[in-house]
Amino acid sequence: MIKSLLSRFPRYTLDFLFPLSCVVCGKEGKFICEGCEPALTRLSQPYCRVCANPGTRGICRWCFNDPLNLDGIRAPYLFEGPVREAVYSLKYRGVRAAAPEMGRLLARYLDTHPFESRAAFESHLPPHTAATPVDLIVPAPLHARRLRDRGYNQAELLTRSLSKEAGIPLDTSSLVRVKHSGPQVGESRERRRSNVDGSFRCDTDMTGKSVIVVDDVATTGSTLSACASALKNSGASDVWGLALAREA
Ligand SMILES: [Zn+2]
Ligand SMILES: [Zn+2]
Repeated sequence: MIKSLLSRFPRYTLDFLFPLSCVVCGKEGKFICEGCEPALTRLSQPYCRVCANPGTRGICRWCFNDPLNLDGIRAPYLFEGPVREAVYSLKYRGVRAAAPEMGRLLARYLDTHPFESRAAFESHLPPHTAATPVDLIVPAPLHARRLRDRGYNQAELLTRSLSKEAGIPLDTSSLVRVKHSGPQVGESRERRRSNVDGSFRCDTDMTGKSVIVVDDVATTGSTLSACASALKNSGASDVWGLALAREA
């Protein structure tokens, strides 16, 4: 009975059948409870100033040899333990009710870790010391086919919540994914890069705008960089990537 219900309403039933409980301690109520949030593994300094590759001071060798087309990627957490669980739940287990909590964590991070201005970046001031104002936040889009299969875009859910919490305008329609590429898991950085290059298009004039692109996880930064290329081709002046977690 439950199984047939699930197959008939796969997008809606999981949130409904399982009340939210903390992914760390199991306490009912919130997806990550107040007590457990401080125990999540943060992405802490040092990390690459561009791609947030953990353990690198300055700019990592990948970014030095093959620069990403964005101003920098930041993430509050490392993609491991309960954070990995939380992302999987949001992405593959249909636990869409997890998004508001994760969006709140992103908003709190952004509040204390603003994206630095280019001048600050170029004069090597410590990260997050000279903030640049943000005009727009945009979720990393899914290809229409993937969106149909999953029923929702987890990055968009995160971005909606972040936009509301941080009071930054949201744009969910200008950036679109025009090329579908298969799963990137296990692919080398070079392959990821060439797989996603040219995958996104932006038809809205973004002249002079400072934009944050949001995704759930950043691995090599290839997807966020391809998003940034499309936004910069449309005139965006600064494009930053923000992910909930950075894969080490
Ligand atoms: Zn907990
Ligand atoms: Zn790097």
